[in-house]
Amino acid sequence: MPRTLPQLIDGQWQTSQARELIEVTDPATQEVIALAPKATAEEIEAAVASAQKAFLAWREVPVSERARLMLRYQHLLKEHHDELAEILAAETGKTFADAKGDVWRGIEVAEHAANIASLMMGETVENVAREIDTASWIQPLGVCVGITPFNFPAMIPLWMFPLAIACGNTFILKPSEQDPMTPNRLAELFLEAGAPAGVLQVLHGGREQVDALLVHPQVRAVSFVGSVTVGQHVYRTGTQHLKRVQAFAGAKNHMVIMPDAPKDQVLSNLLGASCGAAGQRCMAISVAVFVGESKQWIDELAKQMAALRPGHWQDSGAAYGPLISPQARQRVLRLIEQGKAEGAECLLDGSQCTVEGYPNGNWVGPTLFRGVTTKMGLYREEIFGPVLVCMQVDTLEEAIALVNASPYGNGTSLFTRSGGAARHFQHAVEVGQVGINVPIPVPLPFFSFTGWKGSFYGDLHAYGKQAVRFYTETKTVTSRWFDDTPLGEGPNMTIQL
Ligand code: NAD
Repeated sequence: MPRTLPQLIDGQWQTSQARELIEVTDPATQEVIALAPKATAEEIEAAVASAQKAFLAWREVPVSERARLMLRYQHLLKEHHDELAEILAAETGKTFADAKGDVWRGIEVAEHAANIASLMMGETVENVAREIDTASWIQPLGVCVGITPFNFPAMIPLWMFPLAIACGNTFILKPSEQDPMTPNRLAELFLEAGAPAGVLQVLHGGREQVDALLVHPQVRAVSFVGSVTVGQHVYRTGTQHLKRVQAFAGAKNHMVIMPDAPKDQVLSNLLGASCGAAGQRCMAISVAVFVGESKQWIDELAKQMAALRPGHWQDSGAAYGPLISPQARQRVLRLIEQGKAEGAECLLDGSQCTVEGYPNGNWVGPTLFRGVTTKMGLYREEIFGPVLVCMQVDTLEEAIALVNASPYGNGTSLFTRSGGAARHFQHAVEVGQVGINVPIPVPLPFFSFTGWKGSFYGDLHAYGKQAVRFYTETKTVTSRWFDDTPLGEGPNMTIQL
């Protein structure tokens, strides 16, 4: 019998009273490896009440102690790096090396959260008026909530709770129901690092649980990462209930290839950025825009891509793993068929892919299209699979116009040897994260993850200084100290000029 995952409420791992359980499956076999409960209304209430109570004590804990908790936590995460990656690989199907990368990018955020004291420094100005000083203080908000997607079950929860908690908040994590084992282990290690009861809670479930948290009067802020439709729903509902919300949503990322770029670098980077993690990355490159003569490289790209082989996470020769679910696979296969029907040229078709020994895996082989137009579903929809579409334009200007016309704005990159082209591209392109000869330009945690347009709803982004602003309030104190000089002209009844 697969085990039912406990929930973390008020510092205790508790068995849920939920009648409904969600099956967590190994995407390479469909074997049920765990069951996740759908948290009951009472459990959600208990978690929020505990988080609210814990907040009153936690916000008084000195910032240096909060920082030390993060230091211990990042140390434990490093110690358990392989173990976490194994759990993660088993439930996502990611290759072991890629699973380690997922965990590592999260560890870096916990490491960053250990710098919380300097991140929370306010500002001061002396003598804003005669003998009057003003200082700003950064204070935590209260109960914050995180709703995370399936595709980075370590990195994305770690984008959120270490920084929110280091700021002095308490946090309720509702991880993806498709891979909740990794987040549970992350939370166990957080308790082991010394987190007091109630500072972090983990509730499981799906839509109903998210909706209950979004409208709860004691929840102050919501961080969401996931698909566009759900992101819009979370942003609308959360803000309608007067909460602070940041919602990171879907994407369609273009890589623009100039004819002067080093061909081998371009092809190798395109393979990794489009098919790595089976294309299930919000920063994956899903559109390659070939400028001018670089279009001649597409045939060679197809040849190299055909050599990529998906496989089980324990197979060290596998380039990537299965898709997360049979439904995700069916969606990708539908888009591939639609692409063919709409007249795109399919140079490489991965829809019949099989992997020996794993007949039930959600496999999709590398897939490449040419002659794609902006009207096709292949171009308009986020595919979230190992499918790359190639487009051709004559000039850099046309490429920039194409990227800027996309409703999304998560990431983009330019490959070139020209400094002038690079400078123009990075300035003119309307996308929040730009790579110059870097295919997936995800910023490290001392910057912020700055998606734009339809890839992000809100104003303050994940991690870095922006996250500290998101998870805090600024209080401005203006002060004057009296000496014994007698009162001059009586009460002041006007605004001072
Ligand atoms: P998803 O939107 O299906 O699920 C995300 C979370 O929302 C899960 O915790 C889920 O339980 C919950 N949820 C699902 N349906 C809901 C509903 N109707 N109401 C309320 N909550 C609901 O996303 P996913 O499939 O897990 O993740 C893949 C998506 O996430 C892709 O679109 C990808 O681009 C996006 N993503 C974006 C970023 C980014 O930074 N922009 C990063 C990673 C993933």
